[in-house]
Amino acid sequence: MTTNKPTAAYYLDTVLAHAGSDPKNFHGFVNPPVVHASTVLFPDVETMTGGGQRYTYGRRGTPTSDALEDALRQMEGAKGVKLANSGLNAIALACLSCLGQGDHILIADTAYGPTRHFADTVLPKYGIEVEYYDPALGAGIRSLFKTNTKAVFTEAPGSLTFEMQDIRAIADAAKTIGATVLMDNTWASPLFCKPLELGVDLSIQAGTKYIVGHSDTMLGTIAASEKAWPALDALHGAMGVHVAPDDIYLALRGLRTLSVRLERHMRSALDIAGWLETRDEVSRVHYPALESDPGHALWKRDFTGACGLFAFDFKPGTTQEQSSAFFNALKLFGLGYSWGGFESLAIPVHLKGARTATAPDSSVVSGRLHIGLEDPRDLKADLEAGFKAAFG
Ligand SMILES: *Cc1c(COP(=O)(O)O)cnc(C)c1O
Repeated sequence: MTTNKPTAAYYLDTVLAHAGSDPKNFHGFVNPPVVHASTVLFPDVETMTGGGQRYTYGRRGTPTSDALEDALRQMEGAKGVKLANSGLNAIALACLSCLGQGDHILIADTAYGPTRHFADTVLPKYGIEVEYYDPALGAGIRSLFKTNTKAVFTEAPGSLTFEMQDIRAIADAAKTIGATVLMDNTWASPLFCKPLELGVDLSIQAGTKYIVGHSDTMLGTIAASEKAWPALDALHGAMGVHVAPDDIYLALRGLRTLSVRLERHMRSALDIAGWLETRDEVSRVHYPALESDPGHALWKRDFTGACGLFAFDFKPGTTQEQSSAFFNALKLFGLGYSWGGFESLAIPVHLKGARTATAPDSSVVSGRLHIGLEDPRDLKADLEAGFKAAFG
């Protein structure tokens, strides 16, 4: 256990530099050991059966997992944090921890695609009713509550289309019926949004993205409120979830530079998003940090920053062929899934079948960009070459 942990008395950047570090207990080494473990020995039968020893078995936690969980617990202001094998695994565990047979869950229509896939293919098998809602509902979500509504899943801004949600209003409404509120907070990271302060019970991160930050590890995290913690802790143990120590170490290593990386991602993304707004080839940029964005007021109220991920719509009349020519011409923006690493990425956005409670305009051709740590002048030149390839 860490003993010299920074407290809430420190600013977040200080917490990032020190949380989960316990040199006094590890011979002065600044970083925690990467403990590879299954078996843990007990000194005697009394200790073995008495339940007092902190570490009992590799699957049940190590100094390595404690270090990352402790750092995240402080950042999120949570009762406890559990690690998962991927962001999607964290979403699945969080949902299962608060749902049972006969329950009803409301999921934002703009939730990450694989979240919907999990909800559609797994939850019904266990007698759980899944319903999608318009992310713009806010307090109006009340009208969708049923006697068996046990959970409300939020994600802000939404995947691919970046709509903000009024998380506070949704959480207040959910509280009146005792439903658990979940939030996929991957976009803002725990640095720019504190879901538990907004009334969320289970705050989920695809640590794969900005926490790891180097596109080389898959990891998920779930931070729980006092209310949600016992069920999450129990399910996590019962399911036998275990994250490899080397991966945990890479996430903790990434965490140390989260703030400086995100500051640059945000600055460059604001620069490029603003520049795209002035381009004839672009009709709209979807990025809540822009004043022109319909979600800007909510973003300003609840978030303290923005990451490097946003979408844009090509000008009306753009064809799929022109869109492909644009993406194929990019040299610095890699064509690939995921985001949150040091490098820039781009994907064409296809919303066909991705929404069921809302109806996005299917004639709009869009793309999503992750602005990495390259010089934004080079990135703009790359995008400009893409526009040239698409539109001449
Ligand atoms: C990538 C992502 C996930 C899933 O994370 P993995 O580690 O890839 O499983 C969940 N939510 C959002 C918003 C994501 O972008």
